[in-house]
Amino acid sequence: MSVQVVSAAAAAKVPEVELKDLSPSEAEPQLGLSTAAGSAMAPPAGGGDPEAPAPAAERPPAPGPGSGPAAALSPAAGKVPQASAMKRSDPHHQHQRHRDGGEALVSPDGTVTEAPRTVKKQIQFADQKQEFNKRPTKIGRRSLSRSISQSSTDSYSSAASYTDSSDDETSPRDKQQKNSKGNSDFCVKNIKQAEFGRREIEIAEQEMPALMALRKRAQGEKPLAGAKIVGCTHITAQTAVLMETLGALGAQCRWAACNIYSTLNEVAAALAESGFPVFAWKGESEDDFWWCIDRCVNVEGWQPNMILDDGGDLTHWIYKKYPNMFKKIKGIVEESVTGVHRLYQLSKAGKLCVPAMNVNDSVTKQKFDNLYCCRESILDGLKRTTDMMFGGKQVVVCGYGEVGKGCCAALKAMGSIVYVTEIDPICALQACMDGFRLVKLNEVIRQVDIVITCTGNKNVVTREHLDRMKNSCIVCNMGHSNTEIDVASLRTPELTWERVRSQVDHVIWPDGKRIVLLAEGRLLNLSCSTVPTFVLSITATTQALALIELYNAPEGRYKQDVYLLPKKMDEYVASLHLPTFDAHLTELTDEQAKYLGLNKNGPFKPNYYRY
Ligand code: NAD
Repeated sequence: MSVQVVSAAAAAKVPEVELKDLSPSEAEPQLGLSTAAGSAMAPPAGGGDPEAPAPAAERPPAPGPGSGPAAALSPAAGKVPQASAMKRSDPHHQHQRHRDGGEALVSPDGTVTEAPRTVKKQIQFADQKQEFNKRPTKIGRRSLSRSISQSSTDSYSSAASYTDSSDDETSPRDKQQKNSKGNSDFCVKNIKQAEFGRREIEIAEQEMPALMALRKRAQGEKPLAGAKIVGCTHITAQTAVLMETLGALGAQCRWAACNIYSTLNEVAAALAESGFPVFAWKGESEDDFWWCIDRCVNVEGWQPNMILDDGGDLTHWIYKKYPNMFKKIKGIVEESVTGVHRLYQLSKAGKLCVPAMNVNDSVTKQKFDNLYCCRESILDGLKRTTDMMFGGKQVVVCGYGEVGKGCCAALKAMGSIVYVTEIDPICALQACMDGFRLVKLNEVIRQVDIVITCTGNKNVVTREHLDRMKNSCIVCNMGHSNTEIDVASLRTPELTWERVRSQVDHVIWPDGKRIVLLAEGRLLNLSCSTVPTFVLSITATTQALALIELYNAPEGRYKQDVYLLPKKMDEYVASLHLPTFDAHLTELTDEQAKYLGLNKNGPFKPNYYRY
């Protein structure tokens, strides 16, 4: 339900067009990956997109049968602002993804004090008086590093906790470094770590089949030739695979980190070694953060014409500091909830001056983030924190949406006895059909071994529930923020907190009963486990295709607005991942396509379809 949020009104505006009505210009392959033609994995060809906003009557004549196979890479503008607007206002989707939670300090008498936690403040651009010549002292920098852009916490990397063991306290900004080719256009922690980073990148490549396929298919063809992409994302091995793919497709890239903690120094070094101007290291101060972004855009003789952003900081920096750059910029691709929200705000205010692609809400990405990722990482998060055995355990899962479905499926498969709570009768009925007992939390709270919240709501587990839980009950949250479990109600004098492991607290009642609270009620999987590279592969491929589409789109296809990824591209992202499983996709016959009123090569579903 989180995936295709399209109002009836919005859906009604999607024209049901016949094949013949589709625009040939929209069907032209922009990414000349024509080697895919004719194969089962070929990108959908020859058709426009029912998401296209233009009425059928206004469209140019239909493409001939031989129109380009890579149409999926240049579908019609899939503008569905209504759907997107709904999505944005849906509180279930404003989840934050971060791993920088504070630790609790336990004194000998058992008193628990919270160690200073990362301050997640929204950086105000208006107040942003960055004077790079007046750089702070090291101490100043360190204290600054406690603050972080709100948007920087909005998306996640699979290896944010990976640290380098270097004791070198010198700021990378004070170091003179060169790669083995004598190039010094980068700023990373330690270029000598490049070899370790290269290994990480090679490992990630194994689980990112779609990007590797794009590289292969684009051999000789450079759909991003001339593209100058400035990027601001987590700098991890997975991002490196994306950057090197963009490079292989013809783009020049300059990159900064969207989060002051998530950079893998080794990977940044490997990228710098192979010639990418990367400006990022783990533990940047806020000043460093903006300095790095500025070094990416403020370059003599080089001006970006595409933006790939994760959180919107880069986009806003350019807006505030170098608005003239937008004359040359062809489009923005934004990955995060926060960044997308900012773009919609700009658009609403009439200030968005280039087309932007919201890749966050693409179907494939959403499914992988919510259902499939959680199905795997719930077990990982529980196991790493508690070493528990799942078989025979009684678990209650609150919320049977995408995340809840993933959690329930995983736990059921492990032999747990799973109860579900729901407020929505449709999801409730789905839970029943899937073989779960639908209960009210009160009915099972005394007997369950694990309580998991995934509603996106607040106060789902209250102090009353917590009081009634049995000894050793594990309590955790998979929803967007720490509002689902009333953790604050546990901070009372009669209860003792014991930090038993990182991210694991025992909260002890006066009679000795203890509950096991994981990650202080924040997202369990993102706090205590990793995100599989395959999930990030979906995101990275979506980003790459969105860049290709915006960069190659003919004048007028996209206006100064925020667009959802056209469904054909979503389908293409999925199709590029199928060979990993030796999956064989059935092709529609001409007769079947005609019967269903579909283009043989997609899109296969209307915009309002709920997967
Ligand atoms: P969803 O809207 O599909 O599902 C949430 C479900 O909770 C709905 O069916 C809703 O009816 C139900 N619900 C609401 N209040 C309830 C209550 N008081 N008791 C019982 N059920 C209740 O959303 P989703 O995609 O499943 O996401 C759920 C949450 O997880 C969101 O906050 C989302 O941002 C977050 N999320 C987490 C991850 C992760 O990696 N942990 C990934 C994606 C999304």
